[in-house]
Amino acid sequence: MHLKTLTLRGFKSFASATTLHFEPGVTCVVGPNGSGKSNVVDALAWVMGEQGAKSLRGGKMEDVIFAGTTTRPALGRAEVSLTIDNSDGALPIEYTEVTISRTLFRSGGSEYAINGQQARLLDVQELLSDSGLGREMHVIVGQGQLDAVLRATPEDRRGFIEEAAGVLKHRRRKEKAQRKLTGMQANLDRLSDLTAEVA
Ligand code: ATP
Repeated sequence: MHLKTLTLRGFKSFASATTLHFEPGVTCVVGPNGSGKSNVVDALAWVMGEQGAKSLRGGKMEDVIFAGTTTRPALGRAEVSLTIDNSDGALPIEYTEVTISRTLFRSGGSEYAINGQQARLLDVQELLSDSGLGREMHVIVGQGQLDAVLRATPEDRRGFIEEAAGVLKHRRRKEKAQRKLTGMQANLDRLSDLTAEVA
């Protein structure tokens, strides 16, 4: 599995449609200060479902929409599409290529799509969760975050590793199942009390 292309349209400083092509291996993005390198990383996090405006270096989610310049008016929507090569079947979907898209309208609406089919945020999160590209986004380490990782407690560090390994999803499911079992046991206890009363 590797990232193939990323297309930004109306996302932050990328007013016109811009497509970046990635090859397997290491990709470096170079450019002068303020030219939009971090915006590319923000777009990656955003299309994979990032919900925190602060994580995207903004005050509110609408800040990801191109805000206009002296020569170009603001746009009404931001769109990002990420195409992932899935020929090794790492993503649990019957396609060798998967395109995830996210659109946000200035009027407030928001949409996701997987291979052109409308999807929910949950579908995107479920699709990516076993690949290590989970909802906690530990695969994206921003400027200054390395320090935070190095200073993390052993518990936090274990969380990072579990998220990357896809274990966290199963841990959450186990906790949910355990809560249900506890509730069920309470119901059974009550039932047995009632039966004893009636008998
Ligand atoms: P550095 O090397 O300094 O970290 P960078 O190449 O990573 O810089 P970014 O932080 O990605 O640069 O881009 C910052 C630029 O993006 C700024 O010029 C900012 O005005 C522009 N920008 C951010 N959000 C928007 C937006 N919604 N609309 C238009 N431009 C935006």
